[in-house]
Amino acid sequence: MDVKINSGCIGCGMCETLCPDVFEMSSEGIAEVKKIPGVEDISKVNEAADSCPVGVIEIK
Ligand code: SF4
Repeated sequence: MDVKINSGCIGCGMCETLCPDVFEMSSEGIAEVKKIPGVEDISKVNEAADSCPVGVIEIK
């Protein structure tokens, strides 16, 4: 699994709240991926992607 955050993040913090092992807020106030998700992260990454209000979390 690989994940990236496309442009358009509004900095709501939802992904970091749901999956702090993979997502974190940068100093610019937008989310970034801090590690490649492992098998143990898959369900939370999917939940974060589904919950992102602007749909910019892309799972590959
Ligand atoms: S849930 Fe979406 S909009 Fe909110 S911080 Fe994460 S990537 Fe940005």
